[in-house]
Amino acid sequence: MTITDNLNKLRSELPDGVQLVAVSKFHPNEAIEEAYRAGQRIFGESRAQEMQPKHAALPKDIRWHFIGHLQTNKIKQIIAYVDLIHGIDSFKLLAEVNRHAAAAERTINCLLQLHIAEEETKFGFSFDECRRMLDDGAWQKLTNIRICGLMGMATDTDNTEQIRKEFCSLSNFFAEVKSTWFARDEAFKELSMGMSHDYHIAIEAGSTLIRVGSKIFGERNYTNG
Ligand SMILES: *Cc1c(COP(=O)(O)O)cnc(C)c1O
Repeated sequence: MTITDNLNKLRSELPDGVQLVAVSKFHPNEAIEEAYRAGQRIFGESRAQEMQPKHAALPKDIRWHFIGHLQTNKIKQIIAYVDLIHGIDSFKLLAEVNRHAAAAERTINCLLQLHIAEEETKFGFSFDECRRMLDDGAWQKLTNIRICGLMGMATDTDNTEQIRKEFCSLSNFFAEVKSTWFARDEAFKELSMGMSHDYHIAIEAGSTLIRVGSKIFGERNYTNG
């Protein structure tokens, strides 16, 4: 199976309203170019120092999504072209993105990342931390960011019932956040969840953006960069 075959198969399974982020981290430009020729336009990267040269070298109508943990000292490397930042996990990071975005005269689309997995290592707000941040209201003064929805990663497990429970909890929280703070905000509509091994479950639970890497590009070779 080629990248083109993998993409076509994946896209044929996607219901209306679900978009595919092709996660190209650790894969070379040639792999992205093949996916691009097959019609893919949204690509996800998790490191600023990798996304930057890819953006410089590849077609300018690619929409680059930053899906990893964003360090504040890396924001300026991506602010001029990033299309959506999936992993906002603190008010401080949101405020820093806003500051850089204002300097770049852009408004940056952002998703708030929620911690829904069992593992301690995954980043993200707890539901209560997120509620407190939104209640506080200071985010509403950040006019160069646009909160477009939520993102989360399920526990890395074979237990599909657990994965389903975690995705459903995020989906319910999305509904609460939408109705409480964003009821009149049409931009707040994205729920980013689902990766190669769990995107079917994520779609059933209401995902609008799946982030799929190895199922398209094969296993990652971490020595590539
Ligand atoms: C790497 C990564 C993915 C893609 O993972 P695959 O298992 O290769 O599909 C999705 N989301 C995030 C946040 C990632 O870091």
